[in-house]
Amino acid sequence: MKIVIVGAGVAGAILARRLARLPGVELHCLERVGPDDHAEAGTGLNVGPNAIKALRRLDAELAAEVEAASLPWTRWDIALTNGTPLMALPLAQVADNPGIRIRWSELYRVLRQGAGPAIRYGCTLESVGASTAAPGKTRVRFTQDGATHEIDGIDLLVGTDGRYSRVRETFSGAPEPRHIGVAILRVLVPDTSAGLVDDYGQWFSGCHRLLAFRVPPDHVYIAATYPVAPGAPVQDAWKTEAVMRATYQPAQGEASPAVRWLLDAMCAQLHDAHWARMQEADVRFAEPDVDVLYLGDSAHGMAPTLGQGATQAMEDACAAALIVEDAWARDQRTPRVWLDRIAEARSERLRFVMDLSVRATDTMLEGADPVAGTRWKTEAPFQAELAALFRDVALGVPDDASAQAGAATTSAAAMPAA
Ligand SMILES: Cc1cc2nc3c(=O)[nH]c(=O)nc-3n(C[C@H](O)[C@H](O)[C@H](O)COP(=O)(O)OP(=O)(O)OC[C@H]3O[C@@H](n4cnc5c(N)ncnc54)[C@H](O)[C@@H]3O)c2cc1C
Repeated sequence: MKIVIVGAGVAGAILARRLARLPGVELHCLERVGPDDHAEAGTGLNVGPNAIKALRRLDAELAAEVEAASLPWTRWDIALTNGTPLMALPLAQVADNPGIRIRWSELYRVLRQGAGPAIRYGCTLESVGASTAAPGKTRVRFTQDGATHEIDGIDLLVGTDGRYSRVRETFSGAPEPRHIGVAILRVLVPDTSAGLVDDYGQWFSGCHRLLAFRVPPDHVYIAATYPVAPGAPVQDAWKTEAVMRATYQPAQGEASPAVRWLLDAMCAQLHDAHWARMQEADVRFAEPDVDVLYLGDSAHGMAPTLGQGATQAMEDACAAALIVEDAWARDQRTPRVWLDRIAEARSERLRFVMDLSVRATDTMLEGADPVAGTRWKTEAPFQAELAALFRDVALGVPDDASAQAGAATTSAAAMPAA
């Protein structure tokens, strides 16, 4: 059985580690960058409790390594930029375990190390397409270290090559992005806050939102938002210190000490900021005519509001690995059956997560009132949806109580009391 995974990011590295262990599988995981090249992973990530729950279920050892490289995400606090509190939510109320806060580059390092020699680095994809060897099979052509290689007769091709997936574009065209109406600026800065910023917090000035949390070692991740008409460009004026400071000035009173520190730190780093417009794209897990699977960003563009991009990439990879391992153990060696099971397990879940992420963006849209927009997030219906988001991971295999118990005893932090 020949399996090729294109892209060793969040989803690809997790899947490669597991599938490489299946006896009788010839696995190639082709990654574009070099082993220590994290240039595209410059910021911090908050990864939801649901991803950690899924990873503990699949691979307690890997989950423990990821948790050791991170800080636990246990709270969600919202305030106005003058410090007036709007929401104080211990995640224990809506989750079975903490999420994590981690540098993106660290997450890549741990996950790629976990996959070991299964990943081939420095591979440039030249072409990908249907195989002439047999219906349903595929082929890839790539260069590595100046040599060209072709793998034909691939039984399962997995596109985990991220948001601009070449694999998905080849087989079904690039997905059409839907703009949400918000631009977001992200920076990672050294932590000189002396404890002013730690777990996940948000501060609103009108519809403009600052978000920040500390990540190891000694850095703070900061994101700031501006409403923008869908499709309109990010304005150059927003990228100036004067506009940034004026935007986050409270309507009443003084900026809180945490906000003052965040603004100073962000303005000092404006030259190195990552700007993007929030968008999402339709869900597609599998091709109908060839045995091609998509996971993570290649399968679904996700609005970043609830921190579910990398989170769902992890959930996807855990589900795919568990389903293939389960099928393998039963001698079910037909990739089409696996693809159907994975799509069935994941599609509805993704529609729910994407819908919730867009609805939770309401406070950042033009003219939004952060007080009213936060109030409904403190009420029972939204908290029930958050609990479904963080607890109801969709892995497509029966709950295995013994595996869960094992994971709980071997992995790090249990959920602190609310
Ligand atoms: C600034 C920023 C902040 C974010 N913050 C958060 C957050 O707080 N929480 C969260 O959950 N998500 C966050 N996200 C989203 C998250 O990073 C992505 O959703 C996640 O990385 C998707 O994982 P993936 O495995 O699908 O793809 P990726 O992690 O993007 O991995 C794709 C891999 O494929 C490789 N690749 C691409 N093309 C090819 C090719 N042709 N050949 C070979 N290899 C290829 C890439 O080098 C990469 O290694 C953030 C994203 C950005 C940009």
